[in-house]
Amino acid sequence: MPVPLRCPNPRCRYHAHPGRRWRIDYGFYHTRAHGRVRRYRCRGCRRTCSTQTESLHYFAKRRLPLEAVWEALLSGASQRDIGRRYGFSPMAVQHAVQRLGRQAMAAQLELSGSFRPVSGVVFDGLRSFVTAQDYPCDITTVVEPGGETILTLEHTVFRRGGRMSPGQRARVEEKLAVWRPKAGTMSGDISRVVGELWAYLRPPEADDGVFAATIDTDEHRLYGPALSRDPIAGHFRRAGLLQHIRTPGSAPRTRANRLFAVNYVDRLLRHRLREHTRETIAGGRHASLQMHRAWCFAWDHNSRRAWRVRKPKRGVHAAQAAADEVAVRRLTGPFFRRRIRPVHAPVVPETLRRVWMCELPTPPVRWRRGQRGTSVRVPAYAVADLAEACQQAA
Ligand SMILES: [Zn+2]
Repeated sequence: MPVPLRCPNPRCRYHAHPGRRWRIDYGFYHTRAHGRVRRYRCRGCRRTCSTQTESLHYFAKRRLPLEAVWEALLSGASQRDIGRRYGFSPMAVQHAVQRLGRQAMAAQLELSGSFRPVSGVVFDGLRSFVTAQDYPCDITTVVEPGGETILTLEHTVFRRGGRMSPGQRARVEEKLAVWRPKAGTMSGDISRVVGELWAYLRPPEADDGVFAATIDTDEHRLYGPALSRDPIAGHFRRAGLLQHIRTPGSAPRTRANRLFAVNYVDRLLRHRLREHTRETIAGGRHASLQMHRAWCFAWDHNSRRAWRVRKPKRGVHAAQAAADEVAVRRLTGPFFRRRIRPVHAPVVPETLRRVWMCELPTPPVRWRRGQRGTSVRVPAYAVADLAEACQQAA
């Protein structure tokens, strides 16, 4: 169990600078979930804390094998599969996955503090659905092409199009009467993603009028206008420092394709998470929780998977271009034990904040019964964790 490294009281001098001797042993207490827990008291403010305070299991009513849940989730097991395997209720598994998703986001935030600026990004929307095929969604993914590092994820539900039978059309209309994505959501979401690019993407010094930074996308009709609206993109473009390259979606999906990195991530996402597998019957039921799982996938991909299975000695994806191996290892070592405090993030991106706070618009599951949406609770300590990250970033 992780010994606390600092006083939990944000107003105490031992919170930011704990030093060596800030706490004294203060006995034990007993809990049903965690057994005997060692308690400590701060020498400064006398506040007590314990080996639970910074634990990834903080406030859990049951202690789930989080690493095993992680591995199962990313091997294509549905949450119900995991529950059946370990004898936990679906709700207990959902809470564990939410916990892991926040830890993955915290790790990504913390790692972003040691990201090196990149000179190119590739982005694309990965098509999936939430609650039912009648509510398709795009998971817009920004990838650094050199290391295939996932930088940003955004979730957008949109209206189902394409060919439908009269029966399907009637059902979709009935559903849309209960809940429909707001007009302009997609273009707003893409603008948000573009606005956040500059945290990573920086054109190096231009030489000989060569475009220094590139943004690669497919021919999606909203990408061009979103880039045109963005003031920073406009600034770089006028200075001849930024180029937007469009590759048709029909181009062969080979290594030579400029969108290779994002196509590769797309394939892995479908491969690893059950809800994105084609024809799945275990679809996501809540947009924000779907994105908690997507962040589990992203962190696993970035920091725990070898860059190319056949050449594993080159290290993990995130270490290739965006960060260094030491920074990654500092986060992966205690990942399943200690809650990561993302206090070195230069910014807390809005895309990530909305997922953490479970604020993504999501269609109802039981729409026939007039349910208008499903809400997910975010525990107070998790709200406080993110607030601290935002405060440090500001
Ligand atoms: Zn204190």
